[in-house]
Amino acid sequence: MPAVLGFEGSANKIGVGVVRDGKVLANPRRTYVTPPGTGFLPGDTARHHRAVILDLLQEALTESGLTSQDIDCIAYTKGPGMGAPLVSVAVVARTVAQLWNKPLVGVNHCIGHIEMGRLITGATSPTVLYVSGGNTQVIAYSEHRYRIFGETIDIAVGNCLDRFARVLKISNDPSPGYNIEQMAKRGKKLVELPYTVKGMDVSFSGILSFIEDVAHRMLATGECTPEDLCFSLQETVFAMLVEITERAMAHCGSQEALIVGGVGCNVRLQEMMTTMCQERGALLFATDERFCIDNGAMIAQAGWEMFRAGHRTPLSDSGVTQRYRTDEVEVTWRD
Ligand code: MG
Repeated sequence: MPAVLGFEGSANKIGVGVVRDGKVLANPRRTYVTPPGTGFLPGDTARHHRAVILDLLQEALTESGLTSQDIDCIAYTKGPGMGAPLVSVAVVARTVAQLWNKPLVGVNHCIGHIEMGRLITGATSPTVLYVSGGNTQVIAYSEHRYRIFGETIDIAVGNCLDRFARVLKISNDPSPGYNIEQMAKRGKKLVELPYTVKGMDVSFSGILSFIEDVAHRMLATGECTPEDLCFSLQETVFAMLVEITERAMAHCGSQEALIVGGVGCNVRLQEMMTTMCQERGALLFATDERFCIDNGAMIAQAGWEMFRAGHRTPLSDSGVTQRYRTDEVEVTWRD
């Protein structure tokens, strides 16, 4: 019954999780929140993570009821993500592994999301929509790889939402996306925005430019409200995501869809995906903010699968990488 401790810190959340045989024993997390109108910079974010990571480690151990002796493997996020935050966490993971004399496993962040989603929802072989501040991908498993069927060709959907929030000075607490979601509920008018699906891929940067320019002027003249813009932006970008997910499901003959990543806890996105799935006789699986927003347990869970399948990351290879595609990893733990 291996127990795995996982460290995650590829963006503005830092988490330490403990997983033992399909059970999440602990999953504490902190978020680096910046003032309205600003984003998080790599250096400041790394400083935040360094300041809280040892407290989180202690918290995770206490909550799990385990001691260092009970931990069989240390998992950490190798990438993708922001360089400085990734390094700040990898250094601690590597140090703990050496102090406790435990094997180390470097985990692909995207695969952490997928394995967590599979664990929590029980979806067996879903088409995955992975949507967050840094990533937008439609993924399906085949022949020992998580294959990317479609993705953003520029910025991630969450990045589009976050930067829109900055334009409107919407609070980053608890997250810009959450606040946009609440404001969108009060939107009444659908403002037409660019809809950019290119085959299986999507593009969000043009929508953001449009909002920054045209829509912002409409606000000034009173033609629409900030709530209308939140509503319009969500409806447009989510429709694009539903479209490419549906096409991948049709291609794969898939009866299950799973949403993972921070944007995945948006209830409106879940609703739109549910409608699409129902029309196809398929099932939608999603998790709440504890598991779909970046967390330590997802890295522990992917690490648990990898550890059991014999993966080990030697110290000499225990660095980080900002670019690490989902389909680079050989998924030896699945049939
Ligand atoms: Mg993520």
